[in-house]
Amino acid sequence: KYYEPLQAEFRSANSGGKIPLGLKRKGLRIVVTGGAGFVGSHLVDRLIARGDNVIVVDNFFTGRKENVMHHFKNPSFELIRHDVVEPLLLEVDQIYHLACPASPVHYKHNPVKTIKTNVVGTLNMLGLAKRVGARFLLTSTSEVYGDPLQHPQVETYWGNVNPIGVRSCYDEGKRTAETLAMDYHRGAGVEVRIARIFNTYGPRMCIDDGRVVSNFVAQALRKEPMTVYGDGKQTRSFQFVSDLVEGLMRLMEGEHVGPFNLGNPGEFTMLELAQVVQETIDPNARIEFRPNTEDDPHKRKPDITKAKDLLGWEPKIPLRRGLPMMVSDFRQRIFGDHKEEDT
Ligand code: NAD
Ligand code: UDP
Ligand code: UDP
Repeated sequence: KYYEPLQAEFRSANSGGKIPLGLKRKGLRIVVTGGAGFVGSHLVDRLIARGDNVIVVDNFFTGRKENVMHHFKNPSFELIRHDVVEPLLLEVDQIYHLACPASPVHYKHNPVKTIKTNVVGTLNMLGLAKRVGARFLLTSTSEVYGDPLQHPQVETYWGNVNPIGVRSCYDEGKRTAETLAMDYHRGAGVEVRIARIFNTYGPRMCIDDGRVVSNFVAQALRKEPMTVYGDGKQTRSFQFVSDLVEGLMRLMEGEHVGPFNLGNPGEFTMLELAQVVQETIDPNARIEFRPNTEDDPHKRKPDITKAKDLLGWEPKIPLRRGLPMMVSDFRQRIFGDHKEEDT
């Protein structure tokens, strides 16, 4: 069986099947686009545990059946291989719209496809929401702030984004997706919710997806040097996936459109992150400097006052507690059952 529950802590962080937020309703029909991906599959676990009927729509570009196959025998779960760039007819109550590659390596791989997914894909899912009167949640991103000139970033900041750069397919795509969501809200009365997600990590991330936490963890486990891009002084704020899922569900169930920053304000330079990985996996893990990628944002840290005040949400799992849960998952997937004795 692919997905053995990890540690007690992760199970309880992920709600352990308890009904969260006092919700007792049964039988909501919920679509999760991108539900076979990293974040989507954890969200699906929570929705199924709550007693909802979940339809995952995914084209498996970066998602994997393994992430959701523990639900295959559950009649409340359905999986549809479908590309959101094509229209889709379903009857549902809520749409969590996550479909879009999130790692820079993946979204730059076919930039035109990325922007089509963000624009046409989001348009289709908003059209679906309008037709059936479903509530629609968009997973936008901290990248809408670009290389921010304001620090930390507040939702009212409009950002500093290059419209013609190599990241534009993603960040301008998500900005347009936000525009579409707001226009369907204002123009067609669709109930929308917008989350701006900051860097998130945890079990089930693609092992070689190029994002920094998955890279460092996989490299340290394989005894390869950790690749630090640039001088390593750029910062990011890392959120554990169960905190994000809790925030997404509170946002969907609440009365506020947003946008809401969902992220952990704990800010780390990439060198500090490498240090935490050394502490967690291997104190002798080496660091290797590599040239940085184009348009890499220098700083990123969410101001989460709005989510705290209006959603009663804040992250609970700091990096040093979340990382070991991701490491056990990566260890299992990289080495199988074999555990390295010396770590
Ligand atoms: P992921 O790559 O693991 O998951 C994305 C999923 O969408 C995959 O299952 C993929 O196969 C699917 N998908 C991609 N294009 C599709 C298409 N055209 N049609 C149908 N399915 C498609 O990424 P993730 O980290 O789980 O991110 C989920 C969402 O959250 C994304 O929208 C991403 O932009 C957003 N987000 C994530 C982070 C993060 O740090 N993880 C940060 C900001 C925003
Ligand atoms: N759409 C969809 N499923 C639906 C309803 C609409 O995929 O259940 C798509 C539809 O094909 C269109 C988009 O969503 O491309 C926007 O639909 P809307 O009705 O808002 O606009 P229109 O079809 O009038 O352009
Ligand atoms: N990064 C790094 N080494 C890696 C991968 C990424 O130093 O192996 C850096 C990257 O330059 C960026 C930060 O880590 O400054 C976060 O990159 P990631 O791709 O995870 O996400 P982003 O926030 O850029 O979308």
